[in-house]
Amino acid sequence: MPEPSWFDEGYPHIWLPYCQMKVAPPPLPVARTEGCRIVLADGRELVDGIASWWSACHGYNHPHIREAVGRQLATMPHVMFGGLVHEPALRLARRLTEMAPYGLNRVFFADSGSVAVEVAMKIALQYANTRSSGKSKFLCFRNGYHGDTFGAMSVSDPEESIHSAFRGLVPRQIVVDIPTDSRAMEDLDRFVGTAADILAGIIIEPLVQGAGGMRFHSPDSLHGLFRIAKKHGILFIADEIATGFWRTGHRFACDSAQVRPDILCLGKALTGGTITMGATLATEEVFSAFLSDEWEAALMHGPTYMANPLACAAANASLDLFDRESSTERVQRIEARLRDGLEPCRSMPGVVDVRVLGAIGVVQLDPETNIFALRPKLVDRGVWIRPFKDIVYLMPPLVIDAHDLDTLTEAVRTVLGSRD
Ligand SMILES: *Cc1c(COP(=O)(O)O)cnc(C)c1O
Repeated sequence: MPEPSWFDEGYPHIWLPYCQMKVAPPPLPVARTEGCRIVLADGRELVDGIASWWSACHGYNHPHIREAVGRQLATMPHVMFGGLVHEPALRLARRLTEMAPYGLNRVFFADSGSVAVEVAMKIALQYANTRSSGKSKFLCFRNGYHGDTFGAMSVSDPEESIHSAFRGLVPRQIVVDIPTDSRAMEDLDRFVGTAADILAGIIIEPLVQGAGGMRFHSPDSLHGLFRIAKKHGILFIADEIATGFWRTGHRFACDSAQVRPDILCLGKALTGGTITMGATLATEEVFSAFLSDEWEAALMHGPTYMANPLACAAANASLDLFDRESSTERVQRIEARLRDGLEPCRSMPGVVDVRVLGAIGVVQLDPETNIFALRPKLVDRGVWIRPFKDIVYLMPPLVIDAHDLDTLTEAVRTVLGSRD
């Protein structure tokens, strides 16, 4: 079937994300989305296994979100947030602070996850330097990923990451392994003690490091790191852009370890996968450090489309849907089914690990695997799954039913089991 004319006319002018355009096969033209399905221009329907980079938590085109955004579109698609405020934003701010770990009482809206991380880093640097100067570094973790902008790149894994072309070109941070036992935790505690005078913050993706390779760590490790931050008076920044809103089975991954970060970054599923939006939440303690008679002490950040009313309306509607149904039970059901469906992969040749947490299922392969060769085979089996690095992973919409979930895991088993 020939590609649609818009494809042939526009493709020579587009620059695609994370793509070596010299050799990559052309992308698939999409006509529309519905529920847990992506419908291609040629009419094929794919069961969606990654919820558009983990954002479409309620599935696509949810009528409640669509209606809320439509209503907002008719009233006020956008208005600047400098000197003006509106109901969708203030309502959303109140609701997010009620949901978030206790004490995160102030919300700064950003226009994407990466910008939410940049804002978190700016807050931490400015906060730390009002107390003592020279706190210019962040402690961050191997296999971490915090976004594609400059600050966010600097706290992502410098060696293994997709940003290796920028090695040495972004600010150097202090990168360590996430401690997995008490001995390693004590060593890190001692190290942080010696570096506390230069550290403005510790930044981590709680429980699951996503784009760095879907690696899990325990609530104990998370709690240990939180305690180290508290002990040495360093701000603890939780980047829950991927893990927030029940993806790991908890409302926020921090809830699993009774961790109350000083700063929390949200994004991705915040608008139910409808419109780009990020949010940076801070404690009243952090916020109040910016209160002063000096203008220069203010937080100097303000994206043009900050707190976009359409995005706020989508996010409020997404929170309504979370209020309606128990996502905890829903995610527990997905977790059990992902385990059953993916576990048989463990004995297949070239499989290094199978792991499942909440609505995240991962099959890790031998690093020598030609991961890109798997992508078209999965599409041929009627699923949209996008393996990267050394992993095939599933992060479906949280509303996916058992039948579609089985279609996803069966496709993974078949494609991994039939490799030569
Ligand atoms: C996706 C992601 C980001 C970046 O969000 P964007 O909206 O793509 O800028 C940051 N941190 C984590 C943990 C993410 O998964």
